[in-house]
Order: sequence, then C-alpha cells, then structure tokens
Amino acid sequence: MDMDLEMEKVDCPICKGSRGNPLHLEGSFEMVRCPSCQFIFLNPRPTMDSLLRFYQEYLPEEESSIEAWEKMMKPVFHRAADRLEQYRRSGRLLDVGTGFGFFLVEMKKRGWETAGVEISQKAIDYARDMLGLTIFPGPLKKAALPDNDFDAVTAFYVIEHLSDPLDFLGECNRILKPGGFLLLRYPHTTPIKNFLRFFGIKNRLYDLPAHLADFSPKMIQKCLERAGFGKCQHLIGGYTLPGDFGKRTSSVLFGGFAEALFYLSGKKLLFPGVSKTVWAFKGK
Ligand SMILES: [Zn+2]
Repeated sequence: MDMDLEMEKVDCPICKGSRGNPLHLEGSFEMVRCPSCQFIFLNPRPTMDSLLRFYQEYLPEEESSIEAWEKMMKPVFHRAADRLEQYRRSGRLLDVGTGFGFFLVEMKKRGWETAGVEISQKAIDYARDMLGLTIFPGPLKKAALPDNDFDAVTAFYVIEHLSDPLDFLGECNRILKPGGFLLLRYPHTTPIKNFLRFFGIKNRLYDLPAHLADFSPKMIQKCLERAGFGKCQHLIGGYTLPGDFGKRTSSVLFGGFAEALFYLSGKKLLFPGVSKTVWAFKGK
C-alpha cells in the first residue's frame, strides 16, 4: 500500500458540523464519529489527488486474482440482479465502480443495455478489451452523463470509498429516470470493531485508508432520502466466496446466520457488522 499519501483534516462529510471524536485507531489511521449526526469517517483522510493515484494500484493485476475476485462476488451479483429484475426485466443500467466489469457481463447476458464507470485504468482496459464493455473513466461526475438516462444504477462496495457520499447519491439521482432503481452494497464494520475491542483483539477490518467511512443502515437510509430517493429497502447482503478457505467459511457462516436471523425476525433484524444491500427508487 502506498504510504506516501497526502492527508487532510476534514469536516464531517454529511453535516459539516464537526471534525469528529476519536473512535477507533487502525495503525496510524483514525476513524472518528461526528457528535452531531453520528457519521463515522476517516479523519484526517487522503486528499482526492492521492486517492486517485492510490486506486491505480488498488485492484489485483494477475489473471488468477481477477478470477478469484469474480468467483467471490458471483453470489452477490446474482442476488442483486434477481432483486432488480423483480422490478424491471430490462432497460439501461449503469454500474459505478464496476472494476473489471463482471456485474455488467451478467446483466448483459440477461438482456440489459449496460455501461460502467471505473477509475482504475487497468480495470477499464480489461473490461473494454477482454469483455467488450462500455466503460466511462470515473469518478462518476467526470463522465458527465445526461439527466434521466438510466433505469437502474448499481454500486457494489463504492460508497464507503467516497469523500462526498451525498454528492455521489445526488448524481445517481440526477442520471436516473423518475422511478429509477438504485442498489448499493456496503460493509458495516463498526459493530465488529466494537466487539473485537471488547476482547482486546487487534484487527484492520476498516481497510483504511481505502475506506473513508463506515455506514450504518440508518445512516445510508438518511443519505438516500436526502438525495431524493424513496421506498428504501434493506437486505442482509448474503455471503461472498473469497478464495481463502477461512475467510470463505466465515463469510458463508456469518452471512448465512445473519440472513437466517433477518428472515426469522420478519425482515426486521439487520445483523450488525455484516455487509448489507440496500435499494431505493428515484422520487418519494
Ligand atoms: Zn456530522
């Protein structure tokens, strides 16, 4: 990881009301909690320029790692696609932070007209040359897409990387058609951090400085509503399939356990600490 990152102190990205109180330290990086709105964010954090440089090296390069990543995300992509297709069977879809483009491949297969946004040049080249996909170089705003253009926008593990999440959600809202569908998948790490700290277990679960924030379901919903989305619904994300046996087992066990609890509770209990999927529609 590039440790020559330039860091800057920032105000709370959501309410601008505070620079936050210390919450968790991970190496030399500190997550803080805003006393006014409870948002949890990295402060100080890398500047925009150093982040863009950082992401040129973020994704794996070797074919075997790319394949392992595809395998890991497959169950998540299938379930997201099924969820979307409960509302709409075809249309124009944009996947932001699309990486190598595997979700777009799945959606294309299902008959959707697809495009992606990505900031890593290596990933853009792979998606275009190996998979024949349409990719706009990111960030999303740079792509300058027209108003009311897409039926669906998806972003898997993106929002926790952004310096201005509200601005991003506003942009998603602008490019969606009225009633358009937005789906996000995001990690929710703070409850696990609290739990492990209780037992004195050191860890780097926040993935700092790549992640600039940690969203709770409540905070995500608040942000979506502020950005003009309504009918917000959550789903426990379910499991991923990482290549490492231990990680795969814990993902399947915890993901499965959390999901069982979610259904047993009448879709009320969003087990803390497990990745979540949320979707909402443009308009109230
Ligand atoms: Zn705040």
